[in-house]
Amino acid sequence: MPTALVLGAGIMGLSAAWGLSRAGFSVTVLDRALPPNPRGASADNHRLIRHAYGAEAGYMRMVSDAFAAWEALFDETGERLLVPTGVLALSAAGGGWLAESRAALLAEGFAVEDLPPAAVAARFPFLRAEGLSEAFAMREGGVLLARRILAALARRLAVRGVSFRRAEAREADPERGRLTLADGGTAEADLLVLAAGPWAPRLLPGILPVRPTRQIVVELEPPPEHRPAWAQAPMLLEIDPGAGFYAVPPVAGTPLKIGDHRFAPDGDPDGPPAASPAEADAILALAAPRIAGLQRYRVLAARACHYDVAPEERFILRPLGARGVVMSGFSGHGFKFGPLLGLGVAVAATRPDRADAVTAWAAGLAPPPPGLLPRR
Ligand SMILES: Cc1cc2nc3c(=O)[nH]c(=O)nc-3n(C[C@H](O)[C@H](O)[C@H](O)COP(=O)(O)OP(=O)(O)OC[C@H]3O[C@@H](n4cnc5c(N)ncnc54)[C@H](O)[C@@H]3O)c2cc1C
Repeated sequence: MPTALVLGAGIMGLSAAWGLSRAGFSVTVLDRALPPNPRGASADNHRLIRHAYGAEAGYMRMVSDAFAAWEALFDETGERLLVPTGVLALSAAGGGWLAESRAALLAEGFAVEDLPPAAVAARFPFLRAEGLSEAFAMREGGVLLARRILAALARRLAVRGVSFRRAEAREADPERGRLTLADGGTAEADLLVLAAGPWAPRLLPGILPVRPTRQIVVELEPPPEHRPAWAQAPMLLEIDPGAGFYAVPPVAGTPLKIGDHRFAPDGDPDGPPAASPAEADAILALAAPRIAGLQRYRVLAARACHYDVAPEERFILRPLGARGVVMSGFSGHGFKFGPLLGLGVAVAATRPDRADAVTAWAAGLAPPPPGLLPRR
């Protein structure tokens, strides 16, 4: 049986372990903190899955396959940890990302409902329509319960026979499929998968065009009169070049969360986990023009999480050396694709002749490689 060593127990490493275990590998997952690592990019209450992708039609199409991969995973874990909410896309400036998304979605045959500003305010009483120029709603899309998914996936991998090892890796040698560990030991396998999240540039210095950015999220409790409407709310995406925000509605016992869609300055994934008051205020200021009476919402928490940003936000999934595969550059939009990319790693590992096709597909630039999705 071929062996695989996966560095990283975030959604990417665990998904790679899932794909490789299904493909017949004997897998070990190694992480400095076993899942969920509270400092990792995957460890949060929620992550969004939606088709709206601006002009990036490749990633928009990948989302349909991503849904299928989640269903395959949920079939195995026995828990469906995705809450459908639908999407409300908003724009103050008009045109731009919203118009590109609408055009791409319509061309692909999705139903998109354009909403005039007055209809937005009437349907969603917790929103202010002043300054709103365009909006559309769509039914598909929802919230992945990220922290619970990591725990369920880790449990499922253990049942599959995947082993977990807690250790800090100091160096990676993808040529030999080997990690040098902080305790002086080594670990190695036929295949080494490197899924180190925002720590990847530190582990592979000078190899990846990836930088960690410090993104702030704020969790809120709406005032009592708006709680029933928020409980039924879609995800909000207000994406304009110089402003805007996203909001994750409070589903399945999780709090409402808001964040900035733009890339923050470079950060240190081992830096302070709590947001400073100024960092939290900057996020609240982005949402204040749109969320009515935001000053009456109670701030529950504000913290930092790090993206691993790659050029043009294109994922990096490619062979490295004779025995390595690297998964990186998820640029703040990778979680939704975790299980699908895990299946992609398995295709690249078992069919080297398809590895280039996997790389181009993961970058959003090509159709999926043959043999990607399991038959249901
Ligand atoms: C605020 C925020 C909001 C986001 N929203 C969305 C969203 O709505 N939808 C979406 O699809 N995506 C979203 N993303 C992106 C998504 O969460 C990430 O792309 C994804 O979680 C990355 O997973 P990962 O496994 O690569 O990294 P991580 O989860 O960070 O896992 C990396 C793991 O590697 C381990 N590790 C690293 N180096 C070493 C070492 N040297 N030795 C041992 N262990 C090591 C770490 O301990 C960690 O557990 C968001 C990200 C953030 C930060």
